[in-house]
Amino acid sequence: MPQVNSFDLLLFGGTGDLAMRKLLPALYFRHRDGDLPPHGRILGLAREQLGRSDFIAKVKASFASFVAAADMDEATFASFAERLDYAKVEANTPEDFNALAEVMKASLAEVRVFFLSTAPDFFAPICKNLAAAGLVNANSRVVLEKPLGRDLASAQKINEDVGSVFAEPQIFRIDHYLGKEPVQNLLALRFANALLEPLWNRTWVRNVQITIAEQVGVETRGEFYDRTGALRDMVQNHLLQLLCIVAMEPPTSIHPDAVRDEKLKVLRALTPFTQADVGSRTVRGQYRAGTVNGQAVPGYLEEAGIPPDTSTETYVAIRAELESWRWSGVPFYLRTGKRMAERSAEIVVNFRSVPHSIFPSNGTESAGNRLVIQLQPEESLKLFMMAKVPGDTMNLRPVGLNLDFAEQFKQRPMEAYERLLLDAIRGNLTLFMRRDELDAAWRWCEPILNGWRNAGEAPRPYSAGSWGPAASSALVGRDGASWREES
Ligand code: NAP
Repeated sequence: MPQVNSFDLLLFGGTGDLAMRKLLPALYFRHRDGDLPPHGRILGLAREQLGRSDFIAKVKASFASFVAAADMDEATFASFAERLDYAKVEANTPEDFNALAEVMKASLAEVRVFFLSTAPDFFAPICKNLAAAGLVNANSRVVLEKPLGRDLASAQKINEDVGSVFAEPQIFRIDHYLGKEPVQNLLALRFANALLEPLWNRTWVRNVQITIAEQVGVETRGEFYDRTGALRDMVQNHLLQLLCIVAMEPPTSIHPDAVRDEKLKVLRALTPFTQADVGSRTVRGQYRAGTVNGQAVPGYLEEAGIPPDTSTETYVAIRAELESWRWSGVPFYLRTGKRMAERSAEIVVNFRSVPHSIFPSNGTESAGNRLVIQLQPEESLKLFMMAKVPGDTMNLRPVGLNLDFAEQFKQRPMEAYERLLLDAIRGNLTLFMRRDELDAAWRWCEPILNGWRNAGEAPRPYSAGSWGPAASSALVGRDGASWREES
């Protein structure tokens, strides 16, 4: 990958929540650690009328909430602020883009990155207006935030619109879960060690569980969430991308298309859903009032902006299967929900038990070995092995071999957006979704959405602060399995 010495990052939605909470802090940290190319400007763009110093003041004020005080340093912020600028640009107003083109005319930056941190309705007008104002060239890139569509047709429309201005290698579709350190480490673990490969298949893996559990409810985004639901918000993108990393064949190299080809094969190998399957292989739920972290919280239907009779799911569990030699018959359980008992994101690979135990049974040996890749709240990778509890009896218990990154590498772990923004600036597409991956993910999810709609059943209620509807335990229980917190 050629080295980039200068860039312009044009941040649409530059005053929004994502920009203030994640993107600008991520750029600050990469600036602080000297990873950003030396000549690089970050231009916030939104409708609000702001001067450069107003924008810098806004960013600084927001850092008080989103950057830890220990990481905030006046001199570093001042040098970061030298990179910042602001321009008023309304997505549908061509004159604003012409004015932006005037501002950009003097720039000699090698690379121009347009980060669209706005609602997806603005992707098409922004791209068209950028092109019409002559702002797009061969060294331009566009970064797209989720949600990328609400079904296959709308995702294809976004891709057509953006694709009419940018060529596919210029389009960076973000899935921030792929930027997380343990996911990177899973790639290293799988493809830089010979140890796991002989075990990484249907012979030795009993099941895989991928969970993204949130404790928060819909917060202030009720209207958006009710149009979206858990499947569109989390499964179609994050959970399926994590599944791809676990299940993919070794790519021939770390070249972006080599990796993305293998991920695509996984998505295409997912067993499609029939109407009957949707009933038996998925569980959808909706939270009711309950207690989370000792605090009473309202049910979904009582949240602001939520219609009282909505059947939008706030929880989904799915038993997925892959039609491939490596994985045939191995269940991949996916689940995600709001108002769950814990905030946790993890991948659990459960291995089969030994064929014959020579030790007296105390119930725990049936657990088998287990690899737990935790993405939230902590980032860690643990391999659970059976070990003897010290003492005079042969008592066994699973003990975690801990790949403690913090301890081993003694440096602040990089946040996902820090890595992904650097990759976008440097032009590395490996961690970004290709168009055919997005299509394949929607093709698999759409029959689930249709199946739910055709069945017309209300989502199953679950108490806020629980692990979801009881039916999700039954979903895995039918295979003789249990979710990690139950085992
Ligand atoms: P937000 O807080 O509502 O911010 C929206 C931004 O877009 C603001 O800067 C707003 O500024 C600008 N904007 C709105 N209408 C515009 C227009 N007509 N022309 C130009 N700019 C306009 O939203 P957000 O939470 O930052 O989310 C942005 C996108 O990222 C959404 O699609 C969201 O789903 C996605 N996302 C967000 C998060 C998150 O954690 N927040 C996470 C993942 C994905 P003005 O009003 O001044 O124009």
